[in-house]
Amino acid sequence: MFEFNKGIRISGTSFWLDAANKVPLSFISHAHSDHFRRHEKIVATPPTIAMIRLRNRNQKTEPLTFGSKLNMEDVTIELLPAGHILGSAQILVVKDGVRLIYSGDFKMDRSETAEPIKIEPADILIMECTFGSPEFIFPKRWVIIEKLVTFIEACFQKGQVPVILAYRIGKAQEVIKILGELDYHVSVHASIEPVLNVYQQFDICFKSFQTYHGEDLRNRVLVLPPHLSRGIQVKKIWNARKLILSGWAIQKNSRFRFGADEALTFSDHADYRQLLEFVHQVNPQRVFITHGFEKFIFDLRREGFKAELLQKS
Ligand SMILES: [Zn+2]
Repeated sequence: MFEFNKGIRISGTSFWLDAANKVPLSFISHAHSDHFRRHEKIVATPPTIAMIRLRNRNQKTEPLTFGSKLNMEDVTIELLPAGHILGSAQILVVKDGVRLIYSGDFKMDRSETAEPIKIEPADILIMECTFGSPEFIFPKRWVIIEKLVTFIEACFQKGQVPVILAYRIGKAQEVIKILGELDYHVSVHASIEPVLNVYQQFDICFKSFQTYHGEDLRNRVLVLPPHLSRGIQVKKIWNARKLILSGWAIQKNSRFRFGADEALTFSDHADYRQLLEFVHQVNPQRVFITHGFEKFIFDLRREGFKAELLQKS
């Protein structure tokens, strides 16, 4: 049904899924840069295409909305929401009656800024397992929001500037949405603004934010991409206190890796239990894992699934 060599190619076709090298035609699951290369043509959802066009204006595209089907060579494809970031998609490929799902990155919990995940049955499942290890059990959403508020209020009381470190695409929009609904005044790094604009084009509204140009941050929350945590812009804010939002925050001392003062477990991926739950719902005859803990295949085998690592074929 498929071959794997720096990406997944559907057998007997020239159609790839998240190909790692440039190919004539690839499905792109979502706009995070580890899933996107320049290809001659891509198949993706309209929000993913809009975000990719921020970097690559001339990319040739075949937009496909959730629920519509496309026939290509001798396969039919359909995109299903993955719940990871806006526009993130799983792909269902049907060939000779066999159903294959490639999950891309996915999240089971509710998000304010991504379409809720849709889970369909399949014969073959190729899935990510970024957090496929039992220590990664994420807190409930309300617990995360409560901790976020506690952090911000403590900063304000001590005269500090709360700086939230969140990835530019997806995580930043989710936290800006939450902060807006809590009536906080939010300043955002300039690199986040074009992505916010794409989200707004697709009817995700944000209450109040402004792009940060070095103005007074009293009683404001600043949102920055994590790679800028040690940058000059933050160093100039003498009373900054930095909080990283990440699934990796479960690991002790993860804050040091991100150059943050504190870490809060907040992910746009499924946690360990949800990864298992996802496989049970898809109920495939064979599972292939990619992007994550390899030992997750043993947990899947214990649950009765025929699980393997995705390996070069
Ligand atoms: Zn991703």
